[in-house]
Amino acid sequence: MDLSLNERHKELQRRGRDFFEGVLAPMELIVDQHGELPEEHRAKIRQEVRSAGLGSINHSVEEGGQGFTVFEQLLINEQIGRATNGLWTVVWQPPVSLKFGTVEQRRLYLAPSCRGERRGAFAITEPGAGSDAGAVTTSAARCEGGYRLNGEKWFVTNWNASDFVIVHAHLNGDPALPTLFIVDKAQSGVRHIRSPQFMHNYAHDHAEVIFEDVALSADSMLGQPGQGYDLTKDWFVEARLQIAAHCIGAATRAAEEAESYARNRIQFNRPIWDFQAIEFMIADMAVTIMAAKSMAYRIAWEIDHVDDRKLIHARASAAKLFCSEAAGRVIDTALQILGGRGYMRENPVERLYRDIRVDRIWEGTSEIQRSIIGGQIRKRGLDIYTGW
Ligand SMILES: Cc1cc2nc3c(=O)[nH]c(=O)nc-3n(C[C@H](O)[C@H](O)[C@H](O)COP(=O)(O)OP(=O)(O)OC[C@H]3O[C@@H](n4cnc5c(N)ncnc54)[C@H](O)[C@@H]3O)c2cc1C
Repeated sequence: MDLSLNERHKELQRRGRDFFEGVLAPMELIVDQHGELPEEHRAKIRQEVRSAGLGSINHSVEEGGQGFTVFEQLLINEQIGRATNGLWTVVWQPPVSLKFGTVEQRRLYLAPSCRGERRGAFAITEPGAGSDAGAVTTSAARCEGGYRLNGEKWFVTNWNASDFVIVHAHLNGDPALPTLFIVDKAQSGVRHIRSPQFMHNYAHDHAEVIFEDVALSADSMLGQPGQGYDLTKDWFVEARLQIAAHCIGAATRAAEEAESYARNRIQFNRPIWDFQAIEFMIADMAVTIMAAKSMAYRIAWEIDHVDDRKLIHARASAAKLFCSEAAGRVIDTALQILGGRGYMRENPVERLYRDIRVDRIWEGTSEIQRSIIGGQIRKRGLDIYTGW
C-alpha cells in the first residue's frame, strides 16, 4: 500500500483547493444570509464546475464523468469540504446507482447528470422510516403499463436543484421487494409539501414530498425488483467516504483558523498559544485530524484495490463514524480557542460547528454505523478492523 501523493494527486488536491478558495468561499456568507444558494448564482457556478473539470468526479469517462479513482475523489472532496453551508454539494456527483440503469436510463438520466444538465435527488427516509429503512411504506403497485407510486418522503436533499428523484419503494407494498424507481419531478401526483429550516444552512434544500398515485412507466424501475438495498449499498459506501473526506477538510480548516488565532491573540501579555491549556488543544486537534486522515486515505486506497464489497462496506462505515465524530471534536475545540469570536456567524468556525453536526446523523447515524461495525465483528471477527 502506497499512500504517498504523486504529481497527479497533488494537481487534483490543488484543483479542489482552488475551487474552494475561488468559487465556494466567496459564496459562503451569501448562502448564510439567504439560507440557500440564490438561484441567480447557480448556472454560473455549474459552468465553473465544468471549467474546473470537477463535474461527476465519481463516474467513469465512458459514463461522462472524470474517471477518477476513489482515492482521487477523496482528495478533491477533502478540499471542497472546507466550504461551509454545504456548498460542496454544487460539485455534482450523480447517484452511483444510476450506472446500473438500462441503456435508455443511462442516456436519459446518467449522461445529462454527468454533464450537469440534470440532477437527481435520492429519497429513502419517511416519517415512520429513518434508521429502519425496512419500515418504508411507499409502494409501487404494478398496473397496466407500469406502476402506481404512493408514499411520503422526508429530508430529500437537493430537491430544489433536481429535476428527478430516485425513490426507494416496496414493489406491490411487499417489504421483501425493496426497489428503486426513477421519478421525474414534473410528473402529475408529485407534490412538494415543504422544505423546513435546519440547524445548518445548505446550498439547496431538504424537502418533504408526497407521491400521490404517480403513474410510472414500465421502464422507470432502476435495477431489478428487490434490488433496492443492493444498489443503495454502493451509494452508501461512496456517500460515507465522501462524508469522511468533507469532515477532514472541515476539521483541518477549523484547526488552521484556531492555530493561527492562538499565535496572534495576546492575553495576559502573551500569545494564548503559550498557555499549555491551549497548546494541548492544538496538539489534540492535529493528532485527531492525522488519525482521521490516515484511516480515510487507507480505506479509499482499499476500495480502489481490493475486490471485496462486504469488507469495503464494513470499513466505509468505520471511516464515516470516526471522521464525523473526530471532526465534531476538532471543530468544537477550535471554537473554544477562538473564544467569543468563534461564536460569531461571520467566523467560518461557527458555521463549521453548525454544519458538522449532521454528519453524525445522515447516511446512517453514528449508532447505526456502530451496529454495522458490531455486526461485522460478530460475523468476521475483530480482525476485520484491527488486523489489517
Ligand atoms: C439534513 C438532512 C438531510 C438528509 N438527506 C436525506 C436524503 O437526501 N435522502 C434520504 O433518504 N434521507 C435523508 N436524510 C435522512 C437521514 O438519513 C435520517 O435522518 C437518518 O437515517 C436517521 O433517521 P431518523 O432521523 O428518522 O432518526 P431515527 O431513525 O428515528 O433515530 C433516532 C435516534 O435513535 C437511534 N436509533 C435508531 N435505531 C437504532 C438502533 N437500531 N440502535 C441504536 N440506536 C438507534 C438513532 O441513532 C438516533 O439517535 C437526511 C437527514 C438530514 C438531517
